[in-house]
Amino acid sequence: MPHHYQKWVTEAYEFCNTCNRLTMHYVSDGRRGRCKEHEAKGPTKAQQKRQEQQEKEKQNPRLF
Ligand SMILES: [Zn+2]
Repeated sequence: MPHHYQKWVTEAYEFCNTCNRLTMHYVSDGRRGRCKEHEAKGPTKAQQKRQEQQEKEKQNPRLF
């Protein structure tokens, strides 16, 4: 259900499905934008996992 905000609203407290809690979201043109929380956090869990895997492979090159 999309919320409609006043034009002057630039951010709003909303529930984020990714963060699984109430977080600050950007609002532009009265519409809810991206969540500020996971922007600040940087890479997602999935991205972190991939990075870790790449590091492991660097440290332990595969032996054939
Ligand atoms: Zn979020």
